[in-house]
Amino acid sequence: MRIARIDARLVPLPMAEPFVISLGTIYSADNVFVRVESDTGLVGWGEGAPTPFVTGETGTGTLAAVEMMAPALVGLSPFALGEAHRRMDRALTGCGSAKAALDLALHDLAAKAAGVPLGEFLGGGGGEAVEIDMSIGLAEPEAMASAARELAAQGYRELKIKAGAGDAADRAAIDLIRAAAPDARLKVDANQAWTPAQALAMARHYAALDVAALEQPVPAWDLEGLAFVRSRSPVPIMADESCFTPADAQEIVRRGAADVINIKLMKCGGLLPARRINAIARAAGLPTMLGCMLESHLSIAAAAHLAASDPNFIYADLDSFADCDATAIVARPFAFEPPTIQLGGPGIGVDLAW
Ligand code: MG
Repeated sequence: MRIARIDARLVPLPMAEPFVISLGTIYSADNVFVRVESDTGLVGWGEGAPTPFVTGETGTGTLAAVEMMAPALVGLSPFALGEAHRRMDRALTGCGSAKAALDLALHDLAAKAAGVPLGEFLGGGGGEAVEIDMSIGLAEPEAMASAARELAAQGYRELKIKAGAGDAADRAAIDLIRAAAPDARLKVDANQAWTPAQALAMARHYAALDVAALEQPVPAWDLEGLAFVRSRSPVPIMADESCFTPADAQEIVRRGAADVINIKLMKCGGLLPARRINAIARAAGLPTMLGCMLESHLSIAAAAHLAASDPNFIYADLDSFADCDATAIVARPFAFEPPTIQLGGPGIGVDLAW
């Protein structure tokens, strides 16, 4: 079986509300969807979700990147995933979202050809349900707390709280959130907002409120600062923007810069590099989280299959499908009852209206 044809489309996904984090505000998801067809008539679907201030990519740029790399993949077997990545890397450096869109479509096609759900294709035992957390963006502390109360009432047991609004506001928010959702497992994400000293002071406050993890407290480039915080913090430290590639993961391990690594398909370029990062982390004794950008059901399902395929993924921060309206492109989403995604198949198990 060979890849016969690759098509791509830019489909902006409207958001119910802008999502605010310390790096900026996201108003829409300009995602790129990919359709790969085999010479036997099978179709695989992929999605790229560029986030300019995290991955350095835009929607139109990602569409152009996919169109630039696609000809190198036509004629290849969809099972030749390593070779597909070598060809993409030779054509274009970086561009994780564009590579993820193609990587996902090839995985979907290969798993469909094998007649199995993606998670099983990736070596999992057929886990069909993945519990996710829900993120709370930056807002007034009272508004963040009422969001936490509402989410806990809906059945979410894990909440991810954005921070970096200013130390006093962050402290007020977490105090109110802990009171509003006393049983929730809380993770905090500062999205690079702090200095190492500031991060340590905040970590001590979070430790008293039983926060389970503190994500990317310092700038992405500052691995020395991240290692400093990790060596002294009473709360486990998670690397997100500091870890895009397997080589980044290796450097984080070497420096002892994190306790947990947040893997996102859009940072690393899809499922194959994500599995390589997870393997490095697991060998070093570090658990991982599967995170997301503003992704629809399609790439969220792909990530959930990956999370279900290996117990080293201890957290699934796969909530973005709830924030953006993908009804224009997603024809068959997954079943979802908070806080659990039900996975299907064959392949990713989500179909697009093309
Ligand atoms: Mg993060």
